Amino acid sequence: MDHQKANPAESPAPRTAEECSASAPVSGFRPDPHQHWIELDENAYRQNLTSFRQLTAPRVKQMAVVKSNAYGHGAREMTSMAVKAGIDYLGVHCLNELKEINDLTGGIPVAMLGPLYTGNINEVIDLGLEPTLSDLSVATEFAAAAARKNQSIGINIKIETGTHRLGISSEEIPAWCSLLSENPLVQLRGIYTHFANIEDTTDHSFARNQLENLNTAAMLFTELGQQAPLIHSACSAAAIVMPETHLGLIRLGIAGYGLWPSRETYLSTLLPEEKGPALKPVLAWYTRIGQIKNLAAGEFVGYGCTFRATRPMRLAVLPVGYYDGYDRRLSGCGYVLVRGKRAPVIGRICMNMMMIDITDIPGVCLADQVTLVGSDGNETISVDLLASLCKTINYEITSRLGRHIPRLIISA
Ligand SMILES: *Cc1c(COP(=O)(O)O)cnc(C)c1O
Repeated sequence: MDHQKANPAESPAPRTAEECSASAPVSGFRPDPHQHWIELDENAYRQNLTSFRQLTAPRVKQMAVVKSNAYGHGAREMTSMAVKAGIDYLGVHCLNELKEINDLTGGIPVAMLGPLYTGNINEVIDLGLEPTLSDLSVATEFAAAAARKNQSIGINIKIETGTHRLGISSEEIPAWCSLLSENPLVQLRGIYTHFANIEDTTDHSFARNQLENLNTAAMLFTELGQQAPLIHSACSAAAIVMPETHLGLIRLGIAGYGLWPSRETYLSTLLPEEKGPALKPVLAWYTRIGQIKNLAAGEFVGYGCTFRATRPMRLAVLPVGYYDGYDRRLSGCGYVLVRGKRAPVIGRICMNMMMIDITDIPGVCLADQVTLVGSDGNETISVDLLASLCKTINYEITSRLGRHIPRLIISA
């Protein structure tokens, strides 16, 4: 390949050392100033929860779903914020996720939303985690273990209503009720279901049918002498667009973090007779510029030489890559913010680094703060923008943010 040399780009006026150090970071505390970090806005989180309190009847409880490292926000950070904000329930996927936050729950009940394996039964009982039971043979072993320990323990039963993920069929309900009445140490805390088709449509007929199936199942439990103290069904989208799903508790994942479950959910709230929550993103992600260099017209950038300068340019190297959760699909199409302006990602995203075009942003200095997700001046890079560039959903973008990234709670 012929890497032509041309005149180097005319450098924008460099800032003096004072001007550079005066480009103030968003907040004061920096544990890892040369790499990257996530900031979590505690006020935004509180406001999101409050917003849902205003949408629901006063008796409706809230579960903070903190599975998957709190959708990448940081399970420990979000759990402590949720407990401080007075959340009623926490939701994790598995036993290990409980162990990660167990010292922070402040005695608030924690429901495990994923499947229970028999190998984990003893620890689940010892830690007081409320499992979701949906297999009768596991439930039988669970009850035997509770009896052996002489330990009472709460459980949740998930009902199959049409999603065909976890859940028991209605034919099984009598057998489950017998198991419960024969094992008084096993206490039914809740029965619930999860909707299949609520985010991707404005037609709620499938969800309505699932809700009906849940209510029918709940009645059968009651008739057979096992009234569940809590019946619940709503994830974020259902909580927003279908008030009849609120029942005893809403399970808030994505919307608690200030992100809309989908475009359809957001658009539904714009209809004249609807009212939606005011959502504010909790997470922002920042880094600092690691190197600045000039590029001559004709020179290439990055692996595969996918980018070639058509003019003299100035580029900056950032110490962030797909290992950190900056999706490789953003190669050549993402944006970051530098000095309040959008800087395009050029070339391929590497494992730990990426390159951006700062040709048209004057005065950029080494170690300047860069916004990967969040706002700077009048510009914002939203998780939704990155998700749409990656042809995926916001859930995937945040939940894949690396655990190694420092997370700072910003409380005003
Ligand atoms: C993940 C999950 C939720 C949260 O869904 P969001 O769309 O993020 O609000 C609720 N319920 C169950 C069972 C889940 O697995």
